[in-house]
Amino acid sequence: DILIHCHDAARTYGEGENAVVAVHGATCRVRAGDRIAIMGPSGSGKSTLLHLMAGLERPTSGEVGWPGFGRPATARDVGVVFQSPSLIPALDVAENAALPLVLAGTGEAEARRRALSALDAVGVADLADKLPEELSGGQAQRVAVARVLALGPRVILADEPTGQLDRATGRHVVDVLLDTARELGAALVVTTHDPTVGERLTERWPMHEGRLAAASVPDPAPPAHT
Ligand code: ADP
Ligand code: ADP
Repeated sequence: DILIHCHDAARTYGEGENAVVAVHGATCRVRAGDRIAIMGPSGSGKSTLLHLMAGLERPTSGEVGWPGFGRPATARDVGVVFQSPSLIPALDVAENAALPLVLAGTGEAEARRRALSALDAVGVADLADKLPEELSGGQAQRVAVARVLALGPRVILADEPTGQLDRATGRHVVDVLLDTARELGAALVVTTHDPTVGERLTERWPMHEGRLAAASVPDPAPPAHT
């Protein structure tokens, strides 16, 4: 039940003397039911590792695999919550929450039904007709979580989801992420520099200067290409 497997995965930006190694060979895995916090200071490579896990970036060496999916991760298997909620300004809240489903080929009526149900689950059903500019930061981040919940992925990857929120609002967003992961039976991986967020998850993976501390016992074999 391994969902994501990184085997000596590294990511470098730039070339030659300007090269920055954002992530040195990272070996780790995410299993169904995991609740993981990738912890470290700003610039330690947390976002880059999360983007590698999401399939949003390719490793410059090593491998990232999604053995549980039987194929490379698609938008439907992996839901990503970004630090800033990245809502589409011209779409209302319900349309934003439905968008990934529509893009994945779900009919608009069904996508809207699931979006409204997800907005209800995270406590913002009353905002369905609002535009993103009308929302507070905490409300917008809940809508971003609802967008993931509506999609129903097997892994939720959240990049500093509380980074721009005050402590109380951040707490609520972590509650909603944990509830959402439980409801979906999904794994949850959160990057954070905030120890109070990290302690709400089951496992903590420290990162420092692009290096992931030995966090998760690697499989003897690299992930199969599927
Ligand atoms: P964190 O999420 O822990 O703040 P990041 O993964 O964002 O760390 O960044 C790790 C390092 O990689 C930093 O030095 C950052 O400046 C660099 N970096 C990240 N993304 C890029 C990029 N797209 N181009 C160049 N450098 C990048
Ligand atoms: P985070 O707080 O999630 O680490 P950052 O503010 O470090 O986010 O980066 C935001 C975006 O800018 C990310 O997509 C990252 O890849 C990119 N980025 C980070 N550092 C650099 C850099 N030095 N050059 C170019 N892009 C960067």
